[in-house]
Formats: sequence, structure tokens, C-alpha cells
Amino acid sequence: MIIDDIATIAARIRLGGKNVAFTGAGISTESGIPDYRSQGGIWDKFRPVYFDEFMSSRVAREEYWRRWTALYTGIEAAAPNPAHRALADLYRNGYLDAVITQNIDGLHQASGLPEERVVELHGNTRRIRCMHCRTILPIQEVQQRLADGDPAPECNCGGYLKPDTISFGQAMPAAEVEKAVRLSRTCDLFLAVGSTLLVQPAAHMPYFAKDNGAFMAIVNLSETPCDALFDVRIRDKAGQVLPRIVDALASLQAIPVSSPTGMDKKPDPES
Ligand SMILES: [Zn+2]
Repeated sequence: MIIDDIATIAARIRLGGKNVAFTGAGISTESGIPDYRSQGGIWDKFRPVYFDEFMSSRVAREEYWRRWTALYTGIEAAAPNPAHRALADLYRNGYLDAVITQNIDGLHQASGLPEERVVELHGNTRRIRCMHCRTILPIQEVQQRLADGDPAPECNCGGYLKPDTISFGQAMPAAEVEKAVRLSRTCDLFLAVGSTLLVQPAAHMPYFAKDNGAFMAIVNLSETPCDALFDVRIRDKAGQVLPRIVDALASLQAIPVSSPTGMDKKPDPES
């Protein structure tokens, strides 16, 4: 029963400790950002531009930037949805340590989470980086150059500019992966949202958390190969479930936190 599950998650979040959320494309589809790796996604229509091709071929770079421009229009216009805002609420109230995300849309930061609390496993497409000197350029400047007819912009140092995301065939960002592993290994509660937990290294994180004895909850529309690891599974839209967890937490405020049996008490909707 979903109401019980929501109350259980809220009660566990309220116990304190280190609570970590892990998010995937499913949390952003409700903001109108398509899950471009899924079936019917952009990579079904186009073969991806691999990192090696980007670095070795101007034609590939131009193709990459053409696609990015089309994709970015949607991302730029997207706003955080109730699921993003619920996680930001949890953080503000001291109930969430960090968000590990597979998303590249920057919507967690846009919802109010500080940059240092968001671990981006696949980078962020709102940042443009030089592949040679590693400088980050203002995105408006790069957009202007594209609009002015430069099909594959380069840095002043001569390096190739590229959105700061992990392309197919590109190495994962070591520092971010390390942070994600450390958070997962030490958390007391692991809340997966909108991820099928299929892609590595994402798929390892729930195992690390489980090994640490964390309480495990997942909100995702479909089954995942990691479902057996989770104490609570909710198959519903994140934008509908997460705000209810925040509400349930607010209702729990009257119950003393010291008693673990308090977890079984459900807030009376009439009161
Ligand atoms: Zn450079």
C-alpha cells in the first residue's frame, strides 16, 4: 500500500543519519526532458558520436554540436518539478545529505540544492569545457558563437570545446565516482528515484549502500535489476510521491523521534 510505504520512508528519513538520494532520467521526464538513452530516445534515431570521434574528427564535432543545440533548447527551457523541489526541501530541513545523479540537466541545482551537494556522474550539459586546458566557458558565449555560424567552437588555447558531459566512450569523472561511492558506502538511507539502475557505475551504488546496512527505498515507474535490495519499492511518478514524503515528514513532527515504534504510527489525515 503506497500510503504505508510513504509513511515508512518518511519515518526512516526522520531518524536522521546520512540520507542520500540517487536520481536518474525518470525524475526529469516530468520536467519535459526525454530519457534520451531509453527506447525511442535520441540514440535510437542517431548513432551516438563517440568521444574518440569527437576528438579526432571535425565532422563529428560539428554533428555533435548540431545535436546538442537541438537537445539543449529543451533542457534550457525545463524547470525543476515537484520531485526536484521535494529533494531540495529535504535538504533545507536537514534530512538529506547529498544527491547523486545520472542526469546532466542541472535541475537539482536549479531547485535549490547547493552545487557541492550534487554529485553528477555523467557531467552537466549546462557547462562547456575546453578538452585541452579544462577551462569552463560561459555557456552564453558558446551559444552565441554557434548562432553566429561557428559549427564547432574552439577555445582560445586551440583546444576543442565540449559540453561537460560524459560521452559514449569517455572515461567517467574519477572524483565524482569516488564521491558517489563514498556517500553510498556510508549512508544510512538510500533513496533511488527515477533510475533503472542499469548503467555502471550507477548500478553499484545500491549494493554499497546495502552493504552498509542502509534503509533502501526506490521510487521508479518500472522494475529494476536491483529491486530485491530495496526495503520499500514504489512504482509511481516521482513528482507525485516525493512531495507526499515531505508532507508525511511534516505530519510526523509531533511524534517523538526517540521511539522506533513511532515509525508505525501513521499521521491522521483528519487532524
Ligand atoms: Zn583551452
